[in-house]
Amino acid sequence: MARYIFITGGVVSSLGKGLASAALGALLQARGFSVRLRKLDPYLNVDPGTMSPFEHGEVFVTDDGAETDLDLGHYERFTGVAARKTDSISSGRIYSNVLEKERRGDYLGKTIQVVPHVTNEIKDFLRIGGDEVDFMLCEIGGTVGDIEGLPFFEAIRQFIHERPRGECILMHITLLPYLAASGELKTKPTQHSVKELQSIGLAPDVLVCRSEHAIPEREREKIALFCNVRKEAVIPAYDLASIYEAPLAYHGEGLDQAVLDAFQISPAPRPDLRKWEDVVDRIRNVDGAANIAIVGKYTQLEDAYKSIKEALVHGGMANRVKVNVSWVDAEVFDTEDAAPHLEGFHAILVPGGFGERGTEGKIKAAEFARTRNIPYLGICLGMQMAVIEAARNVAGVARAGSEEFDHEKGEKRFEPVVYHLKEWVQGNHVVERKLGDDKGGTMRLGAYNATLTPGSRVADVYGTTKIEERHRHRYEVDIRYREKLETCGLAFSGMSPDGRLPEIVEWKDHPWFIGVQFHPELKSKPFDPHPLFRDFVRAAVETSRLV
Ligand code: GLN
Repeated sequence: MARYIFITGGVVSSLGKGLASAALGALLQARGFSVRLRKLDPYLNVDPGTMSPFEHGEVFVTDDGAETDLDLGHYERFTGVAARKTDSISSGRIYSNVLEKERRGDYLGKTIQVVPHVTNEIKDFLRIGGDEVDFMLCEIGGTVGDIEGLPFFEAIRQFIHERPRGECILMHITLLPYLAASGELKTKPTQHSVKELQSIGLAPDVLVCRSEHAIPEREREKIALFCNVRKEAVIPAYDLASIYEAPLAYHGEGLDQAVLDAFQISPAPRPDLRKWEDVVDRIRNVDGAANIAIVGKYTQLEDAYKSIKEALVHGGMANRVKVNVSWVDAEVFDTEDAAPHLEGFHAILVPGGFGERGTEGKIKAAEFARTRNIPYLGICLGMQMAVIEAARNVAGVARAGSEEFDHEKGEKRFEPVVYHLKEWVQGNHVVERKLGDDKGGTMRLGAYNATLTPGSRVADVYGTTKIEERHRHRYEVDIRYREKLETCGLAFSGMSPDGRLPEIVEWKDHPWFIGVQFHPELKSKPFDPHPLFRDFVRAAVETSRLV
């Protein structure tokens, strides 16, 4: 069975627990161990699928079709291990499972309580796949002391207690605030958060201390003494220029060594960090820059497009250039000329999204890119808008639109070039959905295959004609418009294997204009940039050289 590392946070939220967990996973891999990372979220939503990206950041979709927390994206980007449905859970899901069992009579009429029923459900979740890897890293969302988190902490306490000694450790992440007036780093909040853990029967083996200033040796000793942690296991975590420096930085501060020491793994295998050295080298030593506009709706919260932003960074690394991303709110030019807002960018990316707001602006962005020969990457909604633009402005379908917007308004205004999909094929079976199904889980979700046209730009970019990419959408481009649009020059260069669902479109006579129905950003990694992002950034660099 795997060794378990539980990762908790104290003092304040947003300390970078997800990043620390991902970096630790990468470092254990560098020492030859296999890892899997998991996120346990205390909120009561059953999954993040219906949570607003404004509040919660992007929804990360796994191959097996789970809508999960964006931290799973970090995990994948750092470890290359594809996340699964069973790598993310929320209190909402746990309670819903327990209540379902109660209704079915599984508990034989017993009184259902947090201990043992809810905690047992959490422990069952922790055990899934526990025999497949060397280390299972489980991050608990929120901060110790949160009311919602208590059942998780209690379940962890029991889990550690039930497992053989030395097979579980706890890594706690805290903040050392700096008081400018006295020029001091304060350790008291850290001490309090460790006390909070101790009061529920948990003790950290490793303490990661976020700080904006160097932590003096004597403060490290003090933290070790008061928090009952070995001095070498008090790991400073300073701000970094790039998140991809985290594995090397944490290694330099002794994190992986402290973790292996806590497990008494000796001698520790030597790490091979060449992969991460190359990643950091590609970030630090760049030649030139590409200015790319992301034309979207949730531009106030960059986390809403987390994976896209990271995939662009990876594309930059592949080309050894810096990618400067500008967030452009599509709604601003819904009713005015887009050109003043988009001129000067070397490429335009229109990401996924839901609802009609801002879509006229996105259609204008697609038109701007098409007519000005600016590289364009349309992702999901961004592809649908490019198709609507082509239908309206090139193929003469004046009222072209998406059924999504008519459904939203409850009236029929558009000719649905993009329509609601009621059934589709996944592998060997047909999946059926009605519009009236619950809000969550009514989409084409997860990995699907696509076949690319030999000789098309995408086939060239991917270097193959068979691909598998992740989806998350309800609407599809209607294949009945294929002929009309292809005659105008918009090639349907990627299709579902049964030939019914358009997966990719591209303008033939354009330097670089591609729309994809899936989310390529979810599979990009710093050490393995996604081909579409690699080539999109390359095209942007080319544009930058023309101006
Ligand atoms: N709203 C569109 C659909 O449901 C696009 C979804 C997306 O961009 N992820 O099809």
